[in-house]
Amino acid sequence: KPKVWVLGNGQLGAMLTHAGEPLAIEVNAVDIMTPTDDILPLAPHDIITAEREQWPESALSLQLSSHPHFVNGPVFSRLADRFSQKSLLDQLSVPTAPWTLVDDNTQVDTLYQHYGPRVLMKRRTGGYDGKGQHWLKQAEAEDIPNDWRNLAIAEQAINFDEEVSLVGVRTREGECVFYPLTLNLHQDGILMASISPLARLSPLQAQAEAMLSAIMHELEYVGVMAMECFRVGDELLVNELAPRVHNSGHWTQAGTHMDQFQLHLRALCGIAIPQPQVNFQCVMVNLIGIDNDPRWLSLPNAELYWYNKEVRPGRKVGHLNLSVPNQTVLNQSIAALQTWMPIQYQAPLAWILAEYA
Ligand code: ATP
Ligand code: MG
Ligand code: MG
Repeated sequence: KPKVWVLGNGQLGAMLTHAGEPLAIEVNAVDIMTPTDDILPLAPHDIITAEREQWPESALSLQLSSHPHFVNGPVFSRLADRFSQKSLLDQLSVPTAPWTLVDDNTQVDTLYQHYGPRVLMKRRTGGYDGKGQHWLKQAEAEDIPNDWRNLAIAEQAINFDEEVSLVGVRTREGECVFYPLTLNLHQDGILMASISPLARLSPLQAQAEAMLSAIMHELEYVGVMAMECFRVGDELLVNELAPRVHNSGHWTQAGTHMDQFQLHLRALCGIAIPQPQVNFQCVMVNLIGIDNDPRWLSLPNAELYWYNKEVRPGRKVGHLNLSVPNQTVLNQSIAALQTWMPIQYQAPLAWILAEYA
């Protein structure tokens, strides 16, 4: 029976491993960050996937990425570089924030002329959780720092109404299945909370599915992909794509009969993919740079995922999935979290309550 090997052993790798258990699929999440001379006992029929877009080159990562069953191999480098990712969106006429490459000839005034007084530079590679971003502000007469030239794109600041994402899966045969759109709140570039499904977002579902289908078909992609979007009125603009299971899909663990991790494994292993049934509306709260609080476990509608990582400021160390069987239960749990959680959580918790007001 083929084994699945995951490039990377963070929380996504761990959750993929967990999802393999009921299907009796052995999933091994591989640490590719710690230098080692180890080589893995890969079999020719094993399957390789990744929990991240990029990884350092080593004998170990090369062994995995050069395996003939490294699924979506060429997609990772194409999406890991924002230049080629945004070029793909333009090529497919999928709406995205207007952008340009920042090179030796880029003039900051031209950027302000084209995109307005606030321009967001993003590192072409390596950015996550809002790291690797630099705002240029005309009011501050700011110029492009030299160490951003040739390494970044520049984007128009989008005055979006809110952020949503779509998590979908494509099989080897080209069949696509999607979860309902998820509403996301980011604070300082990092995902704080998600809510899904929401009836008010369903009019956007078909538009979002058409966009992500076009992308997955073009890439001949197999497995779960996430598409982060800005909603501007009735229009969606793609912010970025992630060729993997995604934080904004974590609610599916508590809210659906088949979560994103199982969908990804099924697609990789050629197992049938039914439309996931939503059992509960869910609210996901990311636990960022805070200690594990045993009181969370007393909430009647909460599922805690604690990643067992060292707690550091700004680091994702877990998430709470709150199912919403009715509004009273949700309100009580959020009220409790408001008293237990630190200041940086007050805005996200208020944002959740506002959605139900
Ligand atoms: P992730 O952890 O999701 O991979 P990232 O570091 O790759 O994040 P982005 O998703 O590109 O970065 O941006 C992070 C957040 O910054 C977005 O979710 C959004 O809130 C804000 N943002 C990004 N691009 C723009 C833009 N063009 N205009 C306004 N806000 C933006
Ligand atoms: Mg990103
Ligand atoms: Mg993002």
